[in-house]
Amino acid sequence: MKEMPDILWLEEIRKEDIAAVGGKGASLGEMSSIGLPVPGGFVVTSHAFRRFLIETGLEQTLFSDLENLDVDNNAALEKAADKARAAVLKEKMPASLREEIKKAYKRLDSGSMVVAVRSSATAEDLPDASFAGQQETYLNIKGEKNLLEAVQKCWASLYGARAIYYRSKQGFDDRSVNIAVVVQQLVNSEKAGVMFTSHPVTGEPLAIIEGSWGLGESVVSGSVSPDKYVFDQRTGNVIDRLIAQKKIEIVSEGDHGTRTLDVPTDRQDAPVLSDDEVGRLAKFGAIAETHYGVPQDVEWGIVGNEIYILQSRPITTIRPATAMMQRPEATEEKILVRGQGASPGIATGRVVIIKDVKDTGKVEEGDILVTRMTNPDMVPAMRKVAAIVTDEGGMTCHAAIVSRELGTPAVVGTRNATSLLAQGQLVTIDGEKGFVYDGAIEKPAKKEAPGVGAAAPIITATSVKVNVSIPEAAERAAATGADGVGLLRIEHLILGLNRTPGWFIANNREEEFVQELIRGIKIVLDAFHGKPVWVRTLDAPTDEFRNMEGGESEPHEHNPMLGWRGIRRDLQSADQFRLQVEAFRRLWEQGYDNLGVMFPMVSHPDEFSTACAMMREWGVDTAKATLGVMIEIPASAIMIEDFIHAGIDFASFGTNDLIQYTLAIDRNNENVSTMYQPKHPAVLALIDSAIQVSREHGIECSICGQAGSDPDMVEWLVDHGISSVSANIDAMAKIRETVARTEKRIILESARRRHA
Ligand code: PEP
Ligand code: MG
Repeated sequence: MKEMPDILWLEEIRKEDIAAVGGKGASLGEMSSIGLPVPGGFVVTSHAFRRFLIETGLEQTLFSDLENLDVDNNAALEKAADKARAAVLKEKMPASLREEIKKAYKRLDSGSMVVAVRSSATAEDLPDASFAGQQETYLNIKGEKNLLEAVQKCWASLYGARAIYYRSKQGFDDRSVNIAVVVQQLVNSEKAGVMFTSHPVTGEPLAIIEGSWGLGESVVSGSVSPDKYVFDQRTGNVIDRLIAQKKIEIVSEGDHGTRTLDVPTDRQDAPVLSDDEVGRLAKFGAIAETHYGVPQDVEWGIVGNEIYILQSRPITTIRPATAMMQRPEATEEKILVRGQGASPGIATGRVVIIKDVKDTGKVEEGDILVTRMTNPDMVPAMRKVAAIVTDEGGMTCHAAIVSRELGTPAVVGTRNATSLLAQGQLVTIDGEKGFVYDGAIEKPAKKEAPGVGAAAPIITATSVKVNVSIPEAAERAAATGADGVGLLRIEHLILGLNRTPGWFIANNREEEFVQELIRGIKIVLDAFHGKPVWVRTLDAPTDEFRNMEGGESEPHEHNPMLGWRGIRRDLQSADQFRLQVEAFRRLWEQGYDNLGVMFPMVSHPDEFSTACAMMREWGVDTAKATLGVMIEIPASAIMIEDFIHAGIDFASFGTNDLIQYTLAIDRNNENVSTMYQPKHPAVLALIDSAIQVSREHGIECSICGQAGSDPDMVEWLVDHGISSVSANIDAMAKIRETVARTEKRIILESARRRHA
């Protein structure tokens, strides 16, 4: 095999070359190779970095400290990161490599060019997106010595604390992660902006170009109202121009980044682009669109007479905040459909309406999935899409739960999105507000909740746990620093098998079913090693089983919500229950003593006692096992003391159901959703009395319904003495903060009372 060179010129690189040049390098190379005027430059490849590690001996010494590192120990992580970075900076680059970099630099404008030096990290088969923002960029670098220093600094940035933490959590071995460094002409644009290569809403071949004075940052960030030019690709004419008053410009300054200046009055109202420049830009836009096969969102800059294309990506990509969207005309955002914001985040993409599960193959990466209601067969498609919109459902429907765990924006219960939206239509979803906008209305991207992935969680006396439904969300859930899992819903795991438990039993495939359960549950138990994980026995209404193989044997019920589900079904379908218990028994036997089992939909303590007796019959020592119940039916809240006498170790409020059964409001029926009130006095009274009884008996009392992700409700619960709460992944940070704040307030108030 040919050895990878230390240096590759941008025009030699193709998009497949990620392993050599990282994601950033590969994308710049691809643009350059199709003839787009990308600022000139080269990449110091990952091979060069490897050579540096080997020839300096760092490969032998660098990784031993990282291998046994507990990345959740902040102090140890910082220390190891500092040490690794210092080691990389201290070593002298091999002489031959230094010479190669110097030689390449000389070829750029005879060695006097001011360049940008950017990290472009890569794992073997992974673009650098996953490590985005974790490695450094150095601007305004001039001269060989400074360049060599900047390259080495980029290498060292591979060992930043955050980067090490993420790699460890994502299961990447530090030894195999590489870094390339892009060295590229720094373009100090005199004017710059963005271009949509086709109309972002209608898809017509109209290039829409926005531009302003100075660096493109002012346009991208929306800090200036830019000029707007519309160029018809069919006729080759500028058909519209809107010259704005451009009061400020951002210019680069020394080594320290940028400065904002007032634009002199004579240039404020002058057009930024001539028709000739608009035409040339649109031509590059057409080249990019033809090459990539989809309309592009392009960043450009101009210095003198030279046009530079700085970046190109599909229009669906979310930009943090673009001027396109901040313009007065664009602020008249047209809301097409409203529903409930079920999973926060903003995404733009093309609508794909799925009427039948069989059609999910049509769904592509970045689409907006619009459907009546999602079901577990759709999870693979749900993983790919940029956002999800449903006609039906509330905050606790399948679509809402899975979207939150996947971190995908979702709007549910719109009633008629599948008929109002058109196939292929470009829309923007606001998963917090519950709106679907026409076109690419871009808003500041919502940052991931700080608790996700953040180290050093706040310590609270009330445990703050997390809910999990799909095992693949386990790592994300664990990265919140949660104190355990307060609810693992196994029905999502089973529904994902696409065969009913009855089918496995009828076809003598019981062992397979047990194995699947063990596999899924183990992923979560492993992610939460040493922390409690309460696994709930099966609770799927019969209608959710119907579309699966074996679903034809499910009874047709008038109201499945009130029907054969939860523990009441398991007690009558002993085989189904036995297989679940067998999975738990083997996990306990394998030493997973963090596993607790929780029974759903109990309405009488006899159900708990019967379940325990059956488990004993199947070889479980119930005296040793941690067993509890969900409080989802008023009967169980009222009879909590009897449950305690029957031997429960814990109870957890399933408020999604408790609210619907207390108020007689179907939780998934959008017609009555305004009457679905978590803080209804009757609901609060049931919760309060059950908490007090649990406290008297020293039983852990928790909540795992959606109300446990609502800060107001959680404040009330902590005030009333709940011992733990379990929230959804996306709500973890704010819930932990609420718990901490409430606890502090309680302590403060009590201290003040004592001193009064
Ligand atoms: C609940 O009822 O609050 C609960 C957590 O269970 P599910 O949403 O799965 O019915
Ligand atoms: Mg429930």
